[in-house]
Amino acid sequence: MIRPYLSSEIKQRVRQAAQHRCGYCLSPQHLVMGRLQIEHLIPLAKGGTNEESNLWLACSLCNAYKADLTEAIDPQTGEMVSLFNPRFQNWFEHFEWTNDGLRVVGLTPIGRATVMALHLDSDLDAIMVRSWWVEAGWHPPTC
Ligand SMILES: [Zn+2]
Repeated sequence: MIRPYLSSEIKQRVRQAAQHRCGYCLSPQHLVMGRLQIEHLIPLAKGGTNEESNLWLACSLCNAYKADLTEAIDPQTGEMVSLFNPRFQNWFEHFEWTNDGLRVVGLTPIGRATVMALHLDSDLDAIMVRSWWVEAGWHPPTC
């Protein structure tokens, strides 16, 4: 698929709106290797557009797990629900950190489905990195 051009102005506005952090695991740009990726909330492959309202930031791990998903199964109810939308929904209404700050817990059907789909509670590389952030006092974020 040919990806339509995104201007540097749009990319910069998306980065600022996302507060320079991943919309799913909240990893901040200044603590990750490489640039956070501009992701399509509704993937181009599923009819999403390059409109700014369809763009947000994601780290490479979350973006890779999300791929072209837009919904997933809530493990508690077995129902298919939409994935969390970091542009229009509040992270702290759908998720919380475990007490040790290493894993994300889903609080709602959307939160639980997103945790499962994006491995927010189980990716061992992310958990290892977060443990160092916790040790340094950089994590977890509270807002
Ligand atoms: Zn992430």
